[in-house]
Parts: sequence; C-alpha cells; structure tokens
Amino acid sequence: ESITVQELANRMAERASDIVRLLSKLDMPGSSYETELDQDTAELVISEFGHNIVRVSDADVEVGMVGEADDPATLVKRPPVVTIMGHVDHGKTSLLDALRGTDVVKGEAGGITQHIGAYQVTLPGGEAVTFLDTPGHEAFTEMRGRGAKVTDIVIIVVAWDDGIMPQTIEAINHTKAAGVPMIVAINKMDKAGADAGRIRQALLQYDVQVESMGGEVQDVEVSAVKKTGLDELIEKILLQAEILELKANPNRAAEGSVIEAKLDKGRGPLATVLVQRGTLKVGDVFVVGAEWGKVRAMLNDKGVQVKTAGPSLPVEILGLSGVPRAGDPFMVVENEARAREVASYRAGLETAKRTVSAPADLASMFMALKSAKAMEYPLVIKGDVQGSVEAIVSAVNKISTDLIRVRVLHSGVGGITESDVNLAAASKAPIIGFGVRANAKAREFAQRDGVALKYYDVIYDLIDELKLALAGQLGPEM
Ligand code: GDP
Repeated sequence: ESITVQELANRMAERASDIVRLLSKLDMPGSSYETELDQDTAELVISEFGHNIVRVSDADVEVGMVGEADDPATLVKRPPVVTIMGHVDHGKTSLLDALRGTDVVKGEAGGITQHIGAYQVTLPGGEAVTFLDTPGHEAFTEMRGRGAKVTDIVIIVVAWDDGIMPQTIEAINHTKAAGVPMIVAINKMDKAGADAGRIRQALLQYDVQVESMGGEVQDVEVSAVKKTGLDELIEKILLQAEILELKANPNRAAEGSVIEAKLDKGRGPLATVLVQRGTLKVGDVFVVGAEWGKVRAMLNDKGVQVKTAGPSLPVEILGLSGVPRAGDPFMVVENEARAREVASYRAGLETAKRTVSAPADLASMFMALKSAKAMEYPLVIKGDVQGSVEAIVSAVNKISTDLIRVRVLHSGVGGITESDVNLAAASKAPIIGFGVRANAKAREFAQRDGVALKYYDVIYDLIDELKLALAGQLGPEM
C-alpha cells in the first residue's frame, strides 16, 4: 500500500509542494509529486499537517469485513446499478421518471411507489436494472468521497438545445475519475430543430468520443417527455452491463452501501441500502457506519414488504439504532454483541474526527449575533467541486427568512486557506468546508480569531444544522 505525494495532497486539500518541503525536512530530500510514500510516512505527513487518519478499523478486519473475495465459482450475474448525471434542467428527473415507467412489474398489489433513493425496473425480457434516483453528481461525489462504489454505469444527460454546460463537464470528469463507463443520452429530441450531431461534436472537446465519432462511448437520442429512445437506452445499458460482466455471490452474508437515510417520526431511523453481495434477510443483524441494528422489516421501492434482498436490489430497512449516512458501508455480522462492538469502535473514530473542527460552533456563532442584534448570517463556503459549491450556495440562500438572511460572503472550490479565514474573521462568519478541510495555517488563524470551521460531507446535514441554528436564533415564533 502506497500513495503518491500528489494524491495525498489532494486528499488533504494541501499543496503538494508543501508536502515535498515537509519531506525534505523529514530527511527525504529530492521527493517529487510522484514520489510513492509508504503507509508510515504518509501517516507521519498527515499528522504533521494536523489531519486525522481514518483507517480501516481493527474491528472490521476482525469480523472479516474487508479483503475477503468471493470464490469465482460462487458468482452469479447481477443487475447493473446506474446513476444519471448532467446539467440542471437537462432532464435527469424526467428521464428517471420515464425509465421508472418501463417497469413491467409496477403496480404490484398493495404497493405504492415510494422514493427510497433508488429503484429497480424489471424489463419485459426478465432482466433488471437498478437506478439511483438522487440525480446529480453531488450525491455521486458524496458517496465516492465516503469510499462507497455503487455505480456501475453513468448516464450523462445532455439537452441538445442547451449543449455542454458546466455541470455536464463536471459529470464527465467525475465519471472518468471514478473509472465508470458512461452512456450519453442526448435529450429533448422532440424539440423542433433537434440536432444531436452538434452534441457529439462538442463532446470531443471534453475527450468523450461516441461510437459514430470513432470512439467507444455509447450514445442515444431520447426524449424523456415523449418517452422516445428509452428502449434503445436500456438496450445500451444492458450491453454495457454484459461487457462489465457484473456478478456477485448471492449466497453469503449481505454487504452493501447506504443510499440514503432519514429519521421517520413514526418508524424511527430508516435507511435505503443497496445490497452489493450476499442476500439480506429479515432478522439479520448488521453494522452500518457507526450504527447497528437488526432488520425488522424491508420494503422495496414499490412499498412492498420483502423477506430477502439479493445483489443490486435497493431496500429500505427498519430496525436501526440511529441514522447512518449516505455512502456508509453496510454489513451483516454474526450477532448483536459483535455489531455493537464494531459500531461503537467506529463511533469513537467519528468523534475523534469531529472534534478537530470548530473553536466555536454554529450555536455560539448565533449567540454572538444575537447580542449584536444582527439580522444577517454571514457564511464562507468552500467545496471540493464547483457543482457542490453551487448547490450549497443556492440551498443556503433558500433558507433565509424575512427575519434573518443568510449571506454568502465568499464561495469557491478548494481547501480552506488563510485568506478565507481572514475574510470570515472580519465578519464573524463561520466557514463551511464541504468535502474539503482547512490547511494548517488556516486552522491556526481560525483558532486565533475564533472562526468556526465546520466540515460536512452531506448537503442535507449542513442544511439541517443551519435551519436548526436559524430557528433557535429566532425563538419559538418561527
Ligand atoms: P433536471 O434538472 O435535469 O432533473 O431536469 P428536469 O427533468 O427537471 O427537466 C427540466 C425541464 O426540461 C422540465 O421543464 C422538463 O419538462 C423539461 N424536459 C425534460 N426532458 C425533456 C424532453 O425530452 N423534451 C422536452 N421538450 N422537455 C424536456
């Protein structure tokens, strides 16, 4: 196991040149961005920069949760898992809805279609395809950032009339970075004057060559609204799935990833889990992130109770100790004692991770505001990609009320730096890091100036906390 200087820099949101400088101080002169660091050196660098080391826990290894591959003889074909990405308004949601409509087993007795974050359609030929129905690349990036690899194929939707837009480019980049094959769906072909060739041409500039341009990326012309081209799209998904030879062992303890999770007033913590190998059964004891539980009941995306769930099937499960996060690993363990042990071990890691932030938190930030009778709530927002920064800024602006207004002083892509802290300090604003951290200097300044640094990996967590903070600030009238 080794990691290059550049890769380590990316993960820590630090400059590679700073790492090289540190290495020369640590008796490793002549290092470059490509220098491979062994685990011990990487850990030393990480701690020198004041970051935390998150390692696969010893408890995980003990319960055989990692590194144990299935015997090829046990592998059986499984449905592909597909994510749809693309620029806003290019038709992601419409396409997801249209594809959902192709399901031949829809409308099962007693079932009501419910949004659980993913759904599976069964095709006339009996094959199945699973779609993650939180469109957009924030969710994809979030999951990937948490180490979850759930998507087999990405569909990039491009509205022919709008063309390649910033989020299209990001979607392409994220897909490439994840090493996942893409299929381009050229949408809105029902609109007068439709010209798909223009898109195929424009894609070349982003290193995406579709088949008719001599490349290997499949593309298909669709209209999500008029529901044309859907059969062809599904055909191409299945073809791609064939090429990928997607397989899993269904006859083992289940493992998977959390797609989404929430706290339901009546039913308690709920999580949608995508089973990735094995078969999940009612009564199974599991660990999920820092939570654990016993499957009390499982519902599929049609609201129907199921007793078992095999590979690539998304199911909503009841019976969790708490609400996990999207991207958290899920795995069945032999008994409750083991589940508790692993969960608490992980909870310990989580707390250790959280305590690095914030000399002040959002609540105390509000105390300061209250005494100053300020009615504006300033924020600085830094994120890992332009798309998430945009999404956060727009979400944050939406929670402003007549009485208190969130004001984004500055937003941008990249790690949190000294200049961000200086800016924030001037307005007593907290800094939000989404998928990024503060560098050592910035942390030092933040400590000194009492600037709160808050790290989030999930937009919803950030919005929820902010809403609570705003509500608390304004009192019960709100
Ligand atoms: P998203 O933001 O990518 O999820 O896009 P939506 O699915 O919400 O679609 C944005 C707008 O484009 C909506 O007004 C849709 O009705 C419209 N739209 C989506 N697909 C098509 C299509 O195939 N043809 C036409 N004419 N309009 C479409």
